[in-house]
Amino acid sequence: MARNLDPKCRQCRREGEKLFLKAERCLTDKCAIEHRSYAPGQHGQRSGQRLSGYGEQLREKQKIRRLYGVLEHQFRRVYAAAARRRGQTGENLLQLLEGRLDSVAYRMGFGGSRAEARQVVRHNGVLVNGHRVNIPSYLVRPGDVVALVEHVRGTLRVKAALEANEARGFAAWVEVDAKAGKGTFKAYPSRDELPPTINEGLVVELYSR
Ligand code: SF4
Repeated sequence: MARNLDPKCRQCRREGEKLFLKAERCLTDKCAIEHRSYAPGQHGQRSGQRLSGYGEQLREKQKIRRLYGVLEHQFRRVYAAAARRRGQTGENLLQLLEGRLDSVAYRMGFGGSRAEARQVVRHNGVLVNGHRVNIPSYLVRPGDVVALVEHVRGTLRVKAALEANEARGFAAWVEVDAKAGKGTFKAYPSRDELPPTINEGLVVELYSR
């Protein structure tokens, strides 16, 4: 199953902000953005580069793709599904991305980053309503219960991720029982529960061209 293998910190530096792609490291002063908050590459430090409207739209789309670890083709499919739904396409898009099983597992603290949570899913580490599902793009529905399988619940990495997430507090749209290693996806998040740094409107503009 294809995924983006570009170096993670490089992706953040390209977008000029923290995308939290690497578990705990992102919260320490080892974060590359803290040291080199300019774009990667030979011309990364060149100042005064202004983006066109199209450039801004493209960058925002790339940022959201990277944030959720979704490749272009799949992102297009999610966008098409969002456009078919009732309501605002931009908000629908973010909700569908948050409803992906790898995102839900991440929000429930089953991995320190989305990539880690995705790996737990791929390696048959979660059950959705009691059934094994190993497809990261599987769309979780409100009310679904996502649980870690027994042998994964005991692994040090998953335990550490769960504890760290419990200490920081879980997202409002999931209810998690960290000891039991399971949680309920209560609802799709509303727009104001998601980061204000995301400008999904630019993606809608881009795809409406
Ligand atoms: Fe991004 Fe995390 Fe790397 Fe910082 S440490 S640049 S937030 S992936």
